[in-house]
Amino acid sequence: MKLFEQQELQVYNSLSKSKEKFKPIHEGAVGMYVCGPTVYSNVHMGNCRTFLSFDLVFRYLKHLDYKVRYVRNITDAGHLENDGESGDDPILKKARIEKLEPMEVVQKYTVDFHTTMAKFNALPPSIEPTATGHIIEQIQIVSDIISEGYAYEKNGSVYFDVIKFNEDHTYGKLSGRNLEDMISNTRELTAQSEKRNPQDFALWKKAEPQHIMHWPSPWSKGFPGWHLECTAMSTKYLGNKFDIHGGGMDLKFPHHECEIAQAEACNHESPVNVWMHANMLTLNGKKMSKSTGNNILPDELFTGNNDILSKAFSATVAKFFMFQAHYRSILDFSNDALEASEKGFNRLMDAYRSLDGISTSEKSSMDISAWRQSCYNAMNDDFNSPILIAQLFEASKFINGLKDGNETISEKDLSILKTTMHDFIFEVLGLVDVASENTGDGNKLEAAITLLISLREKARANKDFATSDQIRDQLLEAGIQLKDGKEGTTFSIQ
Ligand SMILES: [Zn+2]
Repeated sequence: MKLFEQQELQVYNSLSKSKEKFKPIHEGAVGMYVCGPTVYSNVHMGNCRTFLSFDLVFRYLKHLDYKVRYVRNITDAGHLENDGESGDDPILKKARIEKLEPMEVVQKYTVDFHTTMAKFNALPPSIEPTATGHIIEQIQIVSDIISEGYAYEKNGSVYFDVIKFNEDHTYGKLSGRNLEDMISNTRELTAQSEKRNPQDFALWKKAEPQHIMHWPSPWSKGFPGWHLECTAMSTKYLGNKFDIHGGGMDLKFPHHECEIAQAEACNHESPVNVWMHANMLTLNGKKMSKSTGNNILPDELFTGNNDILSKAFSATVAKFFMFQAHYRSILDFSNDALEASEKGFNRLMDAYRSLDGISTSEKSSMDISAWRQSCYNAMNDDFNSPILIAQLFEASKFINGLKDGNETISEKDLSILKTTMHDFIFEVLGLVDVASENTGDGNKLEAAITLLISLREKARANKDFATSDQIRDQLLEAGIQLKDGKEGTTFSIQ
């Protein structure tokens, strides 16, 4: 049993544009769908922020003891260049350029995506379905929408009839757009268009001869429209109505709007209770984007191999930086901000590590239970990670006070403090204490510093202060600061 007293989770719903008390459809269980990547290039940091925002949601729901089924798809077909509607399929384009099979492109960038997510210590979803693995389900939905009268076939392609749908439903309710406005703001259809009106969107497209990824269907050899795959995969694994649907802010329209229309047209109910949208990570104040080149890749960050970076940053520091902003706020990426986050993260880790050497007193000079509750309050307020991190810094300050002998803590409170710090830093935020990992260079470094500290203690015991000062000063030059306290010597890496 977890120790939290209050778990009234409030989540901002993009559909109602307000925070709502979260109440899952089935008690104790949550179904969550998040639109995954289109796998034709390396994910950039902007993409990563979206997926890490939902990793935080997934982790916190699990921490609250919900049984979560988290479905995140891989788009490996059907996502055409212009909002999925027209132009080239970027996977086919890449395959032509790199002289690869389309499925080799898909495999290459799916592996890159998984590797990157693992470096960020993001949990894998419960199910990760692909568009090409669900063609039969998508064809079935197209047939259903046609029989409901909301789609029409033209020259082997099938289009969703938005005007017909809007007669007895509301198209645009998620994005707050009004169909009449959309119609008056769009150009006339070009003569060769197969659509009845420009707002209609493709459910099935007949393949042109050069479009080599195609499947047989009742209408033509072709491929599904991009919006369709998410309707097929979300309802297949989570049911016609499920708790949370997430994605990047840019997917709200048309992608998610079209998902709602498709699901309502064939299942006669709104598919999702809570729509969640994660905001952008910008670079130079502009949206990161694959096509404009205004982006930074995770590997550039980990190696420092990009002109805007002064050095390499670890995945956990980058994640800490992103969680210092709320997921619904725009966040601008910069070297200075990353450096500040790195310092903050190291401070937090120093404080956490020193918890083991703290001695206890009769009474605590800080209300640990109230502090603990404030950590939950932060996350219960629409996953407010920056407030949570501020609370963790409060605790760090208190721990430093304990080390200096200016604060006191009872044995019971120390145990609550340790558990809470551990749960929120590692379980909920999913951060990694690089210096104390069991494997890797961090562990070796820590072992070496510990050895130097013990040699210094020996030198001091022998009154060989020249040697003890030399060890301290040379470590400081290398960026490692030793601190002598009541509980012995600790270190921090600058
Ligand atoms: Zn989607």
